[in-house]
Amino acid sequence: MRCFSCGNLSLEPVCKSCQQDFLTPEMIETETGSLEVVSFFDYYLTVEFIKSKYISSGYRVYKFLAKKFFAPFIRAYVDHLDNKEIYLIGVDENVDRGYSNVAILSEYGARGAGIKALHGVLKAKNKVQYAGQPLEFRLQNPRNFIYTGPKNINAILIDDTTTTGTTLEEAHRVLKEHGVNVHFALTAAIAKEGVDY
Ligand SMILES: [Zn+2]
Repeated sequence: MRCFSCGNLSLEPVCKSCQQDFLTPEMIETETGSLEVVSFFDYYLTVEFIKSKYISSGYRVYKFLAKKFFAPFIRAYVDHLDNKEIYLIGVDENVDRGYSNVAILSEYGARGAGIKALHGVLKAKNKVQYAGQPLEFRLQNPRNFIYTGPKNINAILIDDTTTTGTTLEEAHRVLKEHGVNVHFALTAAIAKEGVDY
């Protein structure tokens, strides 16, 4: 197997050297509305990995991120809970490109943590693309999420990137209306300057 980033032979999808150079978790904490958001990486430093969602090799990159970073973090969190019945909910898992990178994060994140992911239960009715768009545009074009999962549960919200936080905030609001108690949101990356591309 070859490293996704440098192309050298590697047992893992990302070689040890590239892991060290690009994928050292920063655990960046932010808030959007009343939702706490924890992100592993700075978007601008990890953009080649995050954007792998647009190509087929992104499947193994996202699986690697889920197992290496999401699963241990979630497991450590769940271990501290009295009520360990908590689910992962991915934001708008869609399979337009043959797989959903968010579904991979939630599936392998949940498996490694010994909990379950609820797939495809939080879908955006509005399929508008946010990449590269400013906050104003995002506010004028809400996702209009529909939640079809179980009510009155505990959950952790999963996404690949947070930018302005508007998507997570909107998702949080819809989940709350269904009695879903979202402990926090976990994303691979955060675009701190509020701009992605
Ligand atoms: Zn490498």
